[in-house]
Amino acid sequence: MTGPQGLDDPRDTAAAVRAALRDDVEDLPPAPAAAVKLLRLTREEDGDVSTIAHLIETEPALAAKVLKIVNSAFYGFPRNIQSIHRAVTLLGLSAVRQAAVQVLFFDSMVRRGGKGAFDRLFFWQHSLLVAILSRGLGERLGHPDPDSLYAAGLLHDLGKAILESQGRIRYSDFLTASANSGNPTIEDERTFFGVSHDLVGALVCERWGLPEMVCRVQALHHTSDLSQAPSQEAAREVAIVAMADFIAWTQGIGSIDNLSGPPLASDVLDQVPLDQIDLSTLLEAADAEITEIGRFYGLEFPTSMQLRARMVGTAISLRRTSTPESGRARSEPRASYTLPHHSLDPDEFIPSTLEALRDEFGIGSLLMMQVEPRRRSLVATHTWPETAFGASARLRLELPVDTLSGDMVRCLRERRPTLIGASVENDVVLAALGATVAAAVPVLNNGRLLGVLWLANDPGAPPFEVGLLLEVQRVAGELGIALDRSRVFALERARAEIDALTRLSNRAAIDRFLDQVFRQSAESGLRFAVGLVDVDRFKDFNDTFGHLAGDDVLRIVADSLRGMTRPSDFIGRYGGEEFLFVLVDCDGPGALSYAERIRAGIERRGQLLLERFPGHPLTASIGVALCDGRGGDPAQVVGAADRALYRAKAEGRNRIVPAWMRGDSSSVAPA
Ligand code: GH3
Ligand code: MG
Ligand code: MG
Repeated sequence: MTGPQGLDDPRDTAAAVRAALRDDVEDLPPAPAAAVKLLRLTREEDGDVSTIAHLIETEPALAAKVLKIVNSAFYGFPRNIQSIHRAVTLLGLSAVRQAAVQVLFFDSMVRRGGKGAFDRLFFWQHSLLVAILSRGLGERLGHPDPDSLYAAGLLHDLGKAILESQGRIRYSDFLTASANSGNPTIEDERTFFGVSHDLVGALVCERWGLPEMVCRVQALHHTSDLSQAPSQEAAREVAIVAMADFIAWTQGIGSIDNLSGPPLASDVLDQVPLDQIDLSTLLEAADAEITEIGRFYGLEFPTSMQLRARMVGTAISLRRTSTPESGRARSEPRASYTLPHHSLDPDEFIPSTLEALRDEFGIGSLLMMQVEPRRRSLVATHTWPETAFGASARLRLELPVDTLSGDMVRCLRERRPTLIGASVENDVVLAALGATVAAAVPVLNNGRLLGVLWLANDPGAPPFEVGLLLEVQRVAGELGIALDRSRVFALERARAEIDALTRLSNRAAIDRFLDQVFRQSAESGLRFAVGLVDVDRFKDFNDTFGHLAGDDVLRIVADSLRGMTRPSDFIGRYGGEEFLFVLVDCDGPGALSYAERIRAGIERRGQLLLERFPGHPLTASIGVALCDGRGGDPAQVVGAADRALYRAKAEGRNRIVPAWMRGDSSSVAPA
């Protein structure tokens, strides 16, 4: 299948999925090949036990599972069965295929990953129940291949698990972020991730080569319009899984612990005539099977009593949210709640959140100030509209915490939104903001103050209402979580981009910097130079003085490079004994004179080190390339520098070769 029918252009979908995931879809954990093949077997091939046994034997995890199942108390076979062939004969293809899809899903998706608001065990239980119910409904409605319905049911929410383990933003973060706004819907997912879980799952299933039906059910299980399905049969398959999903929710086993179940389209009810199905036997059998599977995986699924208790809780919450005094905010998902989680870059998510707050709550203008702990002050960082607060924002207004007075002090001490009206004590702050009336909302995370969100209205407008301030406070809570996460992310990234041996930027940081310089230079036309510095005959140092001494040499070279590089320039360890520098806004002569300083500096150190490394003068060769951002890519510039470096080696080492000069006499040899 080329893409989910009737939905966006498949290329757009693929791009959106790619943007939502940390890794390429190609880099996701692969599906066990044997499991996929088992699922794809046609009915004609069904009977061939040897083929199937062979397939299973190629996948040790699956083989072990099949043997464990056939020997489990559930089947009660008298003897210990050791042969896969025998196990397949006894169990039959159907049970084996179900085992295969369980292994596929459980091992690759459910077991991995950390803890968060997304409860994997609960999710697994939901998936199993939907699988079992889908198969049961299929059997009762005379579907030709109930096993595939089992697979489609088990995998129907795969996209959620993928987003949880591979998403740039985890599904847990989405759930945490939406906890305030009531029930996360498929539209909320789209706003939050740029794509919803059904499309993520469908694309991954396709890449894994799973049967077309499984992919189609993934893509369509939330649609309200089954006419999008390519055939009557396909529409019914989607309806069966959607119905199973709904029934699971009514049993207290939704895929996430949310209040409202999946919407049940009237098409689904038409396709799955429930009056023809004995629901109580279906549910009873499903219960028994789930308990058995739970025992098999050694998992404690909640008992039916616990589930009933949960249903009571859900019913109470639903009643509470549907009463009028609870206000309208809960029923209307607002972009301001989710936008803070759209990015890890405060320069992206703060302005977009301020903009949404202004639009959704009708606030005149907003100013974000962040705590600068070392200076013990609040510093203005973002405004919306961008021109609001005039000079205060442009000059990065700074309010030292110790100098605050009046209502501002109360706001920070009590950590709650506060109206800052005209008064002698408030006037200093108001004058600094250039406003006559304002409100301050603290931005907190885990009780720690991270900043203050200022709201101001046009002169003459009525003061802010308490209800509005409380809503803005909830958004400020999301901003607090997002700010904290973005700081952790920035720290972690900095840590991950340092080479342990030399303390210079590592290859990952180099690649990121090059991309950034390329982008900037493509916009501005600014020239920059890239150079590769390679230690000469470094292997000899290792061979003669040992690897540890070799490491010292690398540290020494790194040190002298660091000492000669201006803060605006960039130097990193490209790999092994090779270093890369980038000189921004630099022409040919500038690049060559920098390279010469480096070459001479390393040579000088080498002379000093001859005492330690007798007979081994330390030198380096350098290839330099220039770029003006027009055409090409980072790899091409580095390639050009590398070829120049190669020539420097060939021409005798300890010299510089510019990539922009041809011929043998171009190298700049030592004086
Ligand atoms: P040339 O002048 O042609 O560049 O010769 P070379 O010996 O410097 O280059 P070659 O690429 O043959 O050898 C580089 C050696 O660097 C091989 C590798 O074992 C060693 N090396 C790579 N990384 C490290 C490291 O982190 N520490 C040490 N001690 N050696 C390393
Ligand atoms: Mg080398
Ligand atoms: Mg070398």
